[in-house]
Amino acid sequence: MSDFSKIREDFPILNQTVNGKPLVYFDNGATAQKPQVVIDAIAKYYQEINANIHRGVHTLSQLATDAYEASRQKIQHHLNAEFAHEILFTSGTTQSVNLVAHGFTSLVKPGDEILVSAMEHHSNIVPWQMLCEKTGAALKVIPMDENGALIQSEYEKLLSEKTKLVTVNHISNALGTINPIAEMIAKAHQFGAAVFIDGAQAAPHLKPDVQALDCDFYAFSGHKVCGPTGTGILYGKEQWLNRLPPYMGGGEMIKEVTFEKTTYADLPHKFEAGTPNIAGGIVLGTAIDYLNGIGFENIQKQEKMLLEYGTQKLLGIEGLKIYGTSAQKTSVISFNIAGIHPYDIGAILDKMGIAVRTGHHCAQPVMQFFDIPGTVRASFSFYNTTEEIDRLVEGVKKAKTMLS
Ligand SMILES: *Cc1c(COP(=O)(O)O)cnc(C)c1O
Repeated sequence: MSDFSKIREDFPILNQTVNGKPLVYFDNGATAQKPQVVIDAIAKYYQEINANIHRGVHTLSQLATDAYEASRQKIQHHLNAEFAHEILFTSGTTQSVNLVAHGFTSLVKPGDEILVSAMEHHSNIVPWQMLCEKTGAALKVIPMDENGALIQSEYEKLLSEKTKLVTVNHISNALGTINPIAEMIAKAHQFGAAVFIDGAQAAPHLKPDVQALDCDFYAFSGHKVCGPTGTGILYGKEQWLNRLPPYMGGGEMIKEVTFEKTTYADLPHKFEAGTPNIAGGIVLGTAIDYLNGIGFENIQKQEKMLLEYGTQKLLGIEGLKIYGTSAQKTSVISFNIAGIHPYDIGAILDKMGIAVRTGHHCAQPVMQFFDIPGTVRASFSFYNTTEEIDRLVEGVKKAKTMLS
């Protein structure tokens, strides 16, 4: 199952030329490519069972509902959640964060504190700022060091009885750092604070166990785990989801509606107003099956090999600096070359068919910390190869010659 040269053939998009050169796709941190089984499953849904869920008595509606709920259970087992109703379908990590931040509006008051880490994606900063603006709570930042690791002693100092929620990413999208979230969750719980984990960058690389972690919320996006765009998951512990008010009102989330009063549906439907992305939700389950079929241990082994190979080769280029050098990191290499703007490197690489991300990676505070405008980010997936890394290194060298 771990013949990675064969696995590549599962991804039709990789087999093409861009700007006259074979495509090298190193922007997996922004979105992952889709295997043929995922592409086929989308077509199959629309060809065979398309119908609205949870409402029809007719056969197709039953089939669609069963497939949607089967996908929810698949994700429940994947995350090792206790109950299927703790798994909410959302449109992505961003919506998952907003759902919880909105819910906390009724649970925090002036003087309370929300802790957020210094290396968060904007979508795990801004909703909490909005919560603080609405409620008078204060946002406090857990600082990081030069390697891009969170400073645990500073985190401990920030925790207090005032802390109502701690939010941190499992893996940083800008630096690749894997945060010690199990320890951080345990520390927060000593003060009764809830913990939200942004798992958007972790879910493609590992299988989180939400019960072992004991996190209160865990979010990820379907499109980063080889699934469809516009899909996402929010895991929430039952008691927390029961405490939070609904995020959106509408059909499907109610028990009974009169003009005087509406009562809300049970979990998970209370948080799933309106017709969801049914095909997407079902096919997200297909994508999770696909990754489990390869095996996360195999995925990690392959990506670790690519990370080590890429790090060593890139560091051979004079003037190249890597940001994010924490001992625990995933297959993301964020770098700059002295005196050259990252955008210019990215544009030259694109001409050579190599897709990387350049800029602030939706994590401007990280760039402010390192006092840089942005970085070039190469993020590897299990379907990438060392030959592709060689092409990247060649491309960066060429860009350096052209631009200096
Ligand atoms: C991509 C990403 C998000 C946002 O995910 P969307 O799919 O755009 O909603 C949030 N946090 C991290 C760490 C990410 O990498």
